[in-house]
Amino acid sequence: MKGFPEQGRSIEELVNELEQLKANDLNYKEGRAFSYVYHVSEQVSQALQLAYSTFFSENALNPSAFPSLSQMQSEVITMCKDLFHAGDSASGLMTSGGTESILMAVKAAKEWAVKKRGIAHPELVMSVSAHPAFNKACDYFGIKTIILPIDENYKAVPDLYREAINQNTIMIVASAPSYPQGVVDPIPEIAEIALDKEVPFHVDACVGGFVLPFIKESSFPKFDFRVKGVTSLSADIHKYGFASKGSSVVIYRDREMRKSQFYVYTGWPGGIYASPSILGTKPGGAIAVAWTVLQLFGRSGYEKHVSIMMDTARMFQNFLETFEGIRVIGKPDMCLFSIGSNSFDIYELGDEMHELGWQMDRQQDPPALHLSISPVHARVFEAFNSDFQQAYNRATRNNVVKLKNRLQVNAARGLKKVLPKKTFKKLQKLAVDKSDANSNRSAALYGMIGDLKGSGTLDEMIVDFLDKMIK
Ligand SMILES: *Cc1c(COP(=O)(O)O)cnc(C)c1O
Repeated sequence: MKGFPEQGRSIEELVNELEQLKANDLNYKEGRAFSYVYHVSEQVSQALQLAYSTFFSENALNPSAFPSLSQMQSEVITMCKDLFHAGDSASGLMTSGGTESILMAVKAAKEWAVKKRGIAHPELVMSVSAHPAFNKACDYFGIKTIILPIDENYKAVPDLYREAINQNTIMIVASAPSYPQGVVDPIPEIAEIALDKEVPFHVDACVGGFVLPFIKESSFPKFDFRVKGVTSLSADIHKYGFASKGSSVVIYRDREMRKSQFYVYTGWPGGIYASPSILGTKPGGAIAVAWTVLQLFGRSGYEKHVSIMMDTARMFQNFLETFEGIRVIGKPDMCLFSIGSNSFDIYELGDEMHELGWQMDRQQDPPALHLSISPVHARVFEAFNSDFQQAYNRATRNNVVKLKNRLQVNAARGLKKVLPKKTFKKLQKLAVDKSDANSNRSAALYGMIGDLKGSGTLDEMIVDFLDKMIK
């Protein structure tokens, strides 16, 4: 692309080009992705496309301009309040995704604390496994994060919350479940501390909100508003709710608290500007899809899919653990989990799978590969099975590529010690550019990242990388 197009082009040509652009994307429709898209089937996608296109251009910016969108949002919240046992006095809001829901919950808690308790130096207490959206929120809104370690089962430790809470704490946070290992934090125990210390408690059910309520086992620990002390909750309809991208909910037990997330400006010549959340203009299509999908499935539909996903996750886990040196990390509570190894470089396995067309995201602390199971994966187990066998054999064999990777990592480590900081930074940039442009292999890069953590240059390197990716 040279610049702004002089002449228009035909839609046929453009759609054709759009289809071609997809060629190198994640093939989620055939279950090759274990994150990003939570795919049920082509049939469901087509049904939801119908819903989206019905509200293709509508804008939810002004609630009185499109009463349809107001009504749908309110009905989505009613459905979710019921699902999460929030009670009549609760209230909520639809947002564009988990991050916006979390930003709003944090902003509301901060304003609440400023208003009610006059807090000047706000702090938020969370575990290291909580989603970075909380770090982002705190960064945006000038809040100090207190980040707690997790226990040997990768779960939040209630006693640490008790110690970390002080007069500046605006909110504490736990996950149901946390994304990296798919384990649910001890919500009831943490809630008791929240009640005791009188601080708001947010449960991040972004990834679990539309799975946990449908798990059949009655012994499953409660995570929602049935637990006294939980004051707000986020859940993404665009993850395991199976909506297209752009929908999540944030729910507050106390209607008053929701007000703290609103923004109003009355001095604008364009009129009185009131906005409930971060977005101004808000796409109607995403709201229509959320409204549609919850009713397309209903409880029985979600129960069916959750049961399939739980069985499939167990099948994948059992299969993966038959390989020597591979273990499922922690005891995952739902259908997302990660695998690691003590005997070989798990990132090598990720690279090998990538080359066979499967995307398993790399995680750190401990090094692991992530698998979020969607309904589509029930249909691709056989294909996964044989490709994984092959990838495992390659990853555990010593070969030239592996040796090269390891040399690169070691070279990078060595260089870091001897080179001036500035020169090394330049080299890092080069390494990132290269590994991006020339190959799918990232084991070397991740090895290097592991070594650079805490050195300060890593953050800068990643910001540079992001800057390049988003041209
Ligand atoms: C995905 C996720 C989020 C963030 O949601 P986005 O929709 O990506 O903005 C927050 N918390 C958890 C646990 C998640 O899995």
